[in-house]
Amino acid sequence: MILNDLPLAAKPREYKLDRLAIDPDAVVPSGKVPCYTHPPEGGGWHYVVRKGEQQILMYCPLCGAPGYLINHEIDAAGTVRPGVQCPNDECDQVVDVQLNGIEG
Ligand SMILES: [Zn+2]
Repeated sequence: MILNDLPLAAKPREYKLDRLAIDPDAVVPSGKVPCYTHPPEGGGWHYVVRKGEQQILMYCPLCGAPGYLINHEIDAAGTVRPGVQCPNDECDQVVDVQLNGIEG
């Protein structure tokens, strides 16, 4: 199935992503992305410490590409606004996501 060939309204748009089990204190060297050997199917997310700050790294629910959530608002229910654009040029989808397991 090639997503880009689907009419816009038929594209899957909203995803609930589960929090992935990873050491919450894992420190990520600046600029580096801690990548799973096999990207999590259906996406997912976890906290990382990057540049001395806790950040959220999420995986595209469509292709598994990792990306940090920056310049996004995340409410108490884990809803991310605006939509997240995949950093993978071959995917490039914008998806609405809700992060399950967020800590207020
Ligand atoms: Zn993607």
